[in-house]
Amino acid sequence: VKAEGRNNYQFYDQSMQQQARWRWEIEEGLHQAIAKDELQIWLQPQVSAEHFIIGAEVLLRWQHPEKGLISPIEFISIAEESGQIDALEAWVLDRSLALLRQWQNKGLPECFERLSINISPAHFMQPGFTSRVLALLDQHAIDGVNIEFEITENLLIENFSLASKTMNILQAHGISFAIDDFGTGYSSLRYLSQLPLNILKIDRSFISDLEHNNNDASLVEVILITADKLGLAVIAEGVETSAQEAILAEHGCKIYQGFYFSRPQPAASFYSLLTAQNGF
Ligand code: C2E
Ligand code: CA
Ligand code: CA
Ligand code: CA
Repeated sequence: VKAEGRNNYQFYDQSMQQQARWRWEIEEGLHQAIAKDELQIWLQPQVSAEHFIIGAEVLLRWQHPEKGLISPIEFISIAEESGQIDALEAWVLDRSLALLRQWQNKGLPECFERLSINISPAHFMQPGFTSRVLALLDQHAIDGVNIEFEITENLLIENFSLASKTMNILQAHGISFAIDDFGTGYSSLRYLSQLPLNILKIDRSFISDLEHNNNDASLVEVILITADKLGLAVIAEGVETSAQEAILAEHGCKIYQGFYFSRPQPAASFYSLLTAQNGF
């Protein structure tokens, strides 16, 4: 038993070391990733009840030379802790707006309304965030109405007054705000009514078992009714089956995102899909 315990401990110790090493490699690699052109933005369609693509979420991808494609889940939190998130998301913003400008020049279907961009709390709370965003809109000649920012509940609660101030300024420029992963954080119904929000994204965890779990179905119904009463639009995330879509539609959901409709994809293939599917 003792020997086993020691072995377990050694294994644990080694994996801690490996974790630390991995972290260090990610952090070091991120410093170079932009310059080395290893980052990409991918896009996942958001579709209407009639299955028109009305928007897309921008999702960051890192094609690492040795480690392959690294999930943002792996490196976003490290970038947040190391202070690299601002530079990373400034890059995402710049690339997203450049893409939108390029598409608008080539031609965009009328039903396509906006790009949704994830903004980390640490970046959102930076004093320079608002002016950075406005400068980029200006630089790429993009109207704020074509942009939506996805932020999380916890950010809003921890920094209520600064968050709502920033949101109000950007909203005056047409930018809309979505609350991401709704239902998984320390949400309070009060924040939904007090903050200048436009959209609520129901987290995938409420959707994945929707067909078999009556409680989840009830929660989704309550979220849709509440959002409607508060004048918020709703996007259902992580929709993987037609049965899930049907239940959501029955309760009045109007915008969907998930593998059932499309996986995230590189910009060029997204644009092909967008223009083909919308009969453009
Ligand atoms: P998220 O914001 O909740 O984004 C949705 C995630 O769910 C994406 O994972 C997407 O690929 C995945 N997804 C979409 N539909 C389905 C589905 O039907 N089934 C399943 N199983 N998954 C689905 P991804 O691209 O790996 O991104 C993971 C997370 O990384 C994102 O979660 C977001 O929190 C973060 N992230 C990505 N890009 C950025 C960024 O530029 N900034 C920040 N702060 N976070 C980012
Ligand atoms: Ca998101
Ligand atoms: Ca989400
Ligand atoms: Ca998430």
